[in-house]
Amino acid sequence: MLNSTVVGRIDITPELMILQVKPDGGVPTFQPGQYVALGLPGSAPRYAGAPAEAEVPAADKIIKRAYSIGSSPAKGDYFEFYIAIVPDGALTSRLAVVKAGDRLFCQPKVTGTFTLDGVPGDHNLVLVSTGTGLAPFMSMVRTPATWTPGRKITIVHGVRYPQDFAYADELSSFASSNPGFTYLPIASRAESSFAGRKGRVQVLFEDGSIQLTPQVDHVYLCGNPAMIDDLERDLTTKLGYVVHSKKTPGNLHVEKYW
Ligand SMILES: Cc1cc2nc3c(=O)[nH]c(=O)nc-3n(C[C@H](O)[C@H](O)[C@H](O)COP(=O)(O)OP(=O)(O)OC[C@H]3O[C@@H](n4cnc5c(N)ncnc54)[C@H](O)[C@@H]3O)c2cc1C
Repeated sequence: MLNSTVVGRIDITPELMILQVKPDGGVPTFQPGQYVALGLPGSAPRYAGAPAEAEVPAADKIIKRAYSIGSSPAKGDYFEFYIAIVPDGALTSRLAVVKAGDRLFCQPKVTGTFTLDGVPGDHNLVLVSTGTGLAPFMSMVRTPATWTPGRKITIVHGVRYPQDFAYADELSSFASSNPGFTYLPIASRAESSFAGRKGRVQVLFEDGSIQLTPQVDHVYLCGNPAMIDDLERDLTTKLGYVVHSKKTPGNLHVEKYW
């Protein structure tokens, strides 16, 4: 059942980590924006000091949760995930202590419709994330096919504290080498001494930092459901955005993490 090996781990903060996982059968074909389930058995150790579980899972039960793939299909030897440790989370209190060489479950089938499928190559991408919702957008911008000629790409990353800006160096370096790429990090609980943008991601839409033309700008929202609900309401009612689904193609794409 445990069919994959942890090949790398980068701790961003005690609550945020990048995990690199190599499935025994190799990385299957996938599209940027898709996800897989990861899992560990109930018997896997939890981090020291984790709160007692209201319901202790059976030792042999695999606890599975969905995680967006952060790596590009163009770099196919392992999956990368960007994971928040939820202090009393059933799976993440166990993932919190995995290390290189450990075994875990990784669902062989990749799934999800939060992809760039159907977005014309000459349309722009406004990719808005909070926290680990950045992961699918890392996969998109790390994939050469996303960079169609003339397309503008904006990544918004909303976090609580400045130390939560994972991937900031990589995104800043994309911005300096691609004139069509804009990286907008924003921290809601930064100290007053913080030199970057402070506030919630919604502020960037309210103050004109992001200006949208619905005919050419596809918006993707990923992460915290409260941010998604707010922006979805504003963009549909004020600008006429249409939420994308398989049945009704639209220009507003959403992926809620909980
Ligand atoms: C399509 C999809 C893709 C996802 N991709 C990612 C990802 O790339 N990275 C990631 O960290 N999570 C991701 N999630 C969330 C993930 O599936 C789990 O819900 C999360 O890791 C908590 O699992 P748990 O068993 O530890 O907590 P549970 O015991 O299942 O508790 C769930 C609670 O944890 C909180 N929570 C869930 N996700 C987060 C989060 N990311 N940050 C803060 N609080 C959270 C919510 O309050 C939620 O109600 C994704 C979810 C979906 C549906």
